Amino acid sequence: MRIAELETYLVNLPLRREIKHASHARRQSASLVVRCRLADGTEGWGEGVPRPYVTGETAEDALEQLNSTPLTGQFDRECRSWDDVFALCERFQPAVLADDPRGCRSNSLRCAVELSVLDAYGRLFGESIRELTHRYAPASDLRDSKPVVRYSGAIMAEGDRAERLSALKMRLYGFAQCKVKVGVAGADDRRRLARIRRWLGGRMDVRVDANEAWNAAEADARIEPLLAYRISAVEQPLPHRQLAAMPELRRRLPVAMMLDESLTGMADAEEAVRIGACDLFNLRLSKCGGYLASLRLAAFAHRHGLGYQLGCHPGESAILSAAGRHWACSVRDIRYLEGSYDRHVLGELLTVEDITFGYGGRAPALAGPGLGVTVRTEVLDRVAFKKQTFRLD
Ligand SMILES: [Mg+2]
Repeated sequence: MRIAELETYLVNLPLRREIKHASHARRQSASLVVRCRLADGTEGWGEGVPRPYVTGETAEDALEQLNSTPLTGQFDRECRSWDDVFALCERFQPAVLADDPRGCRSNSLRCAVELSVLDAYGRLFGESIRELTHRYAPASDLRDSKPVVRYSGAIMAEGDRAERLSALKMRLYGFAQCKVKVGVAGADDRRRLARIRRWLGGRMDVRVDANEAWNAAEADARIEPLLAYRISAVEQPLPHRQLAAMPELRRRLPVAMMLDESLTGMADAEEAVRIGACDLFNLRLSKCGGYLASLRLAAFAHRHGLGYQLGCHPGESAILSAAGRHWACSVRDIRYLEGSYDRHVLGELLTVEDITFGYGGRAPALAGPGLGVTVRTEVLDRVAFKKQTFRLD
């Protein structure tokens, strides 16, 4: 079966309230949604979340890259098995129109296109996306099969009252893990952590994410006072350009260090391991270039004795939430899991199914072939500000 057509939608998903962290604040989320239509009419959906301050891409860049990519040469192949589909996805090389030393400037586009292809063939073959983890050779050490996964909560930098409400809800609803955004200008993170730890209780696993807020000279002084509140990890304390200072920081402080903005693909992963920059990778499907690339990165981390979190982009729709759910249910040893915030973050759901996590952050493996979610095209049409069709036959 061949791919007949890709259709792209640039969308602005309205958010329920402003999302704020050390490097950005926003009220809507720009996404690239892709529909892949096979020759027999079977359709699949994918999504990428281009974030200029993470991988350097905007939604418009992604579309421009796709317009400059010779798609017929890359996609007009017959796929009869998953191996054929994996080969097709791995051959996909979007044209990148700017300097790209880290090989990440088309990652959200790759993710959106790849997921749409995997969803379409999953529906055609009658298999769930998570079966791919079991069939994809680079992930053979990671295979798992969980009927339920547990997501972590997150507390944004949003002022005393809102933070207290978030923390108390998380405790009341029985979450086991919580991430706290730190490093926002003007906030006293030591006092925030003291209060938040009190509200969350002693049993919760609490970690912090600084979103590149500190520099190498001040990071010790920023992090050390937080250790008293038993944080289990610090995510991206330094800007990516100061990555070389991470090994020393990691040696000096008795807390696990995670890379996020500094971990966008295999070039970053190899560099991080080479210099000993971290204990954990934050893998996000869109940031890392898709489902399969994220599996390769997890396998790489595993081989080098590092842990990994599966993260998300706040504001992603249930297309990416579903892909993340399948990934999480089929991959073992995920240290922290983020995502499926859908109803709590989005002003409107893009899918018929509401797959937001439930009590304690728990959420079941999704049923059905492909991604297992149904896109509401009337909502998609309403939030899309640009549409384009790419014919392949
Ligand atoms: Mg982060």
